[in-house]
Amino acid sequence: MVEHQIRSRGITNSRVLTAMREIPRHLFIPPPYNTSAYEDAPLPIGNGQTISQPYIVALMTALIDPLPEDRVLEIGAGSGYQAAILSMLVQQVTTIERIPAVADLARENLVKIGLQNISIIVGDGTRGYPDHAPYDGIMITAATPEIPPPLIDQLTIGGILVAPVGGREIQELITLTRNENGVVRSSHGGVRFVPLIGEHGWADS
Ligand code: SAM
Repeated sequence: MVEHQIRSRGITNSRVLTAMREIPRHLFIPPPYNTSAYEDAPLPIGNGQTISQPYIVALMTALIDPLPEDRVLEIGAGSGYQAAILSMLVQQVTTIERIPAVADLARENLVKIGLQNISIIVGDGTRGYPDHAPYDGIMITAATPEIPPPLIDQLTIGGILVAPVGGREIQELITLTRNENGVVRSSHGGVRFVPLIGEHGWADS
């Protein structure tokens, strides 16, 4: 998976590649889809939600440039896989999940792996999580019409936020880097994510 789907497509951050090699993706995917865990695809995890494609997980992780002393916020815990990758790379991961049953799944999966530096919060991640702010990196793993303003406020100066921004069906992967004067926005190509539902995201429908 790492050689053929990730390194060959231009991800060179060696810490990210090592984390992707070490975390067993099949443990985060319920049957019968777990047999396809190392294919280049998002897969269903129940409750209408998905675990993201491995290449996109690696790309989003590399884009926030994770450092060992960093504190990172993820919006959309899903299976817990992205949080597990991040937890190998940074000091503390806070991940928020809107659907309680999905948060339970993430918790069960992360217990199997035995990682300690992850807090799983149930709630609306479009508001962020001020109690653990500020964050050096913020990753939104669901599609948002625009970047929720509270998340920008919770980013450090120099911090990077990555998110799929656009319509409910198709989005562009965006990074925002916060500086003293505001934010610098860059685009990293087209993606498809399930919608971010919440106060600063899409309405539930
Ligand atoms: N990062 C996950 C993983 O590694 O498996 C995949 C995330 S899945 C593509 C998107 C997740 O975002 C879903 O589990 C969904 O319930 C969650 N979500 C949607 N809106 C949310 C919100 N406002 N706050 C927190 N989670 C939300």
